[in-house]
Amino acid sequence: MSGKSVKLINDDGLRLDGRHADEIRPMKIEIGVLSRADGSCYLEWGRNKVLVGVFGPREVHPRRSQRADTAVIRYKYNMASFSTEDRARPGPSRRSIEISKVSREAFEPVIMAELFPKTAIDIFVEVLQADAGTRTAAINASSIALADAGIPMKGLVTSCAFGKVDGQIVLDLNKEEDNYGEADFPVAMTQDGEITLLQMDGNLTPDEIRKGFELVKKGCKEILEIQQAVLRKKFETPVEEPEVET
Ligand code: UDP
Repeated sequence: MSGKSVKLINDDGLRLDGRHADEIRPMKIEIGVLSRADGSCYLEWGRNKVLVGVFGPREVHPRRSQRADTAVIRYKYNMASFSTEDRARPGPSRRSIEISKVSREAFEPVIMAELFPKTAIDIFVEVLQADAGTRTAAINASSIALADAGIPMKGLVTSCAFGKVDGQIVLDLNKEEDNYGEADFPVAMTQDGEITLLQMDGNLTPDEIRKGFELVKKGCKEILEIQQAVLRKKFETPVEEPEVET
C-alpha cells in the first residue's frame, strides 16, 4: 500500500491483467502431489504458486504440547527464498508467524479436532512463487490438503481478498494492485459463509467494506466450486450404470 500514483484500472474498467473488478485470477489445483504427506495440494492462483503438506493426526512432539481433550492444530506458512522479487530471508519472520496464526484460526472452527485427543494435525505451507494473496492461496490449498488427508471437517474453508484500487473496490488483488492500491482486505469463510479470517491493511469506509464483502462472497463461491470439483474428481467413485437388457 504505497499510495503511489500508477494507473491500475483503464478507461474500460479493466485491470492491468485484463480482469474486471469482480473477477478472481485463474486457479489451478492438483491434489495428492506429495507421497510422504497424508494429504497434499499444489495450487496456482494467477502468478502465485503454493504447496501444502498435511500430516496427522499423529503423535505430538514435544509431548508437553499434547492436549488431553483435542488434537493440536499447527499451521506453518513459509516463503521460499526464491519466491519473491527480492530474495526472501529464510526462517520465520513476524509476518510469517502472524500469517501462520491467523490461518490456523481460520481452520479451527471446521476441523473436528476433538475426535483425535493427544495428537497433532500439521499443515505445512511452502510459498514457491508469490504475487500477492499468498495467505489466501495457502488457505484454499490447505483446505484441499486436509480433505486429501481425510481429516474430518465440517466443511471446506475458502479464502479471497478484496481491496481498493484507483478508488474502486476490486476482488483478489495482484502484486501491482497490492503495492500501489489503497487497501487490501483478506477474508476466509466456511462453506456456510461463517467468517474465519478477516484482516485489513489500508483504509476503507463501511460502505466500501459492504461492497467488498459482496465481491468476496462471490469470489469464495467460485473458489468453493473449483475445490469441490477437484475433490469430487479424486474421491467420487463413478456409479456403474446397471446394464439394461434389450
Ligand atoms: N512480499 C515480498 N516479500 C516479503 C513479503 C511479501 O515480496 O517478504 C510480496 C509477495 O509477493 C506477497 C505480497 O508482497 O504475496 C503481499 O504480501 P502480504 O504481506 O500482503 O501477504 P499476501 O498478500 O501474500 O497474503
